[in-house]
Amino acid sequence: MKKRKPMIIANWKLNGGLDLICTSVASFIGKHFEAQIAICPPYIYLRDMMMFLQYSELQIGSQNVSKYESGAYTGETSAQMLKQAGCTLCLIGHSERRSMFGETNQACFNKAKRVLEHDLLPTLCIGENREEREALLTQQVLRQQLTESLKGLDLTGRSLCIAYEPIWAIGTGLAATPHLVQETHQFIRQVLTEVFDLITANRIRILYGGSVTKNNAHDLLVQPDIDGLLVGGASLDPGHFLAICEQASQIAKEQ
Ligand code: PEP
Repeated sequence: MKKRKPMIIANWKLNGGLDLICTSVASFIGKHFEAQIAICPPYIYLRDMMMFLQYSELQIGSQNVSKYESGAYTGETSAQMLKQAGCTLCLIGHSERRSMFGETNQACFNKAKRVLEHDLLPTLCIGENREEREALLTQQVLRQQLTESLKGLDLTGRSLCIAYEPIWAIGTGLAATPHLVQETHQFIRQVLTEVFDLITANRIRILYGGSVTKNNAHDLLVQPDIDGLLVGGASLDPGHFLAICEQASQIAKEQ
């Protein structure tokens, strides 16, 4: 068994609908996985998805969450509401939220705090862009994102997840190599040790995201510090996503 139970998360972004919900969930019915699997559909479909989930191990997550608890914040959805809708996790700080909607590390911290207060699993997305990688700034960027988004969170009796998503690999078909991801995840775990402590850092799952497919999933998942995957485009094809989840489960059984 892997040290940490693998986790596979589908991020549908602004895609999908009732048809995709039916076909995706149907392919998981009655199957057991040695991995935690969640789908993050657009908010509007969370309840629909929840109704289909009874006979599968699938969980649902949200693609975003408000940093506010309640009040005059038009268009926002709180952690409490997501919990009531049946979510078990929330993505925080996806690079598209950071670049298109101005999400800062401070906002990520506030969101993670809310999410933890409601016993949901925050999944913090971090990653460098191409220019930062080429300027050898990857470690500096990741350290800053991790420190500013996480330092001061109380993880007593709770946990969180990190999704390392190099921006140059998202939606481009240019996945990072397993070797590069493994090395980067080791670095991330070292920073998590500094931010929290060794025991906490060792139980935090670090996922990789960026052009994951059923063809490269296996080689990524066998790396000791790759504890799962965040899958965008490939999760919109139910057969393809199922194949990725089956590989994660198989690897978990064998390790
Ligand atoms: C993502 O946006 O989180 C993602 C990983 O997308 P893709 O798999 O399409 O690169």
